[in-house]
Amino acid sequence: CGIVAYIGYREACPIIIKGLRRLEYRGYDSAGVALLNGTLNVYKKKGKVQELVDFIEAKDTHAQIGMGHTRWATHGEPNDVNAHPHYSTSERIAIIHNGIIENYAALKTHLQQQGHVFQSDTDTEVFVNLIEEIKKQNGCSLEEAVRLALHEVVGAYAIVVLSKDNPNQLIAARKGSPLVIGIGKDEFFLASDATPIIEYTNEVVYVNDYELVVIRDGKLEIRSKEDVSQTPYIQKLELEL
Ligand code: GLU
Repeated sequence: CGIVAYIGYREACPIIIKGLRRLEYRGYDSAGVALLNGTLNVYKKKGKVQELVDFIEAKDTHAQIGMGHTRWATHGEPNDVNAHPHYSTSERIAIIHNGIIENYAALKTHLQQQGHVFQSDTDTEVFVNLIEEIKKQNGCSLEEAVRLALHEVVGAYAIVVLSKDNPNQLIAARKGSPLVIGIGKDEFFLASDATPIIEYTNEVVYVNDYELVVIRDGKLEIRSKEDVSQTPYIQKLELEL
């Protein structure tokens, strides 16, 4: 139900946790984070953001890239395993997702036949395995695999994708579910709405349906469904903190 992601020079985890707290008003049943620092660590818990905070206290959370999620379950009961982020089968790619993938059952059967193994009952885990399978079959970049996967899923989504093989990159996309980019100095934020972002920057870009967002090596690129690079429309927020 809520998404927060960070890529930059600061510690990602505290920014993400604070952002998830700002999104708590949207309602949720579980929360989780993925942090990328050479390894791709996923920590998630049913319950309040505070339970996640207690859980990760003794864990390695050091990273300058990461993403967090609060879940409002649609497919699969609220529990630790069904909480986001979800790994692909190889555990090299992780995803967070708001929304519903309507054709997940058919995709899942197909992916299982190709050897993908599922841990959860969610529609979301299908999405990340689809990305992995497309990447493998086409030998393409992660960004291209995400773009192709978007053509195969039916439903609504805001997603953020991280990969162990792309340590300086964050990919996002939306259709139907909201997604905002915050542009800082040498850092970027992503969130379901601007509330987790405003304390760091007032420059935001509202992502449009079908757009693909790639933040890599300190640069933001937005591509249309037709794969044409878009000039980001930067808006200045004047919100009171
Ligand atoms: N459909 C996904 C799930 O049930 C995402 C739900 C959400 O938007 O939080 O896990």
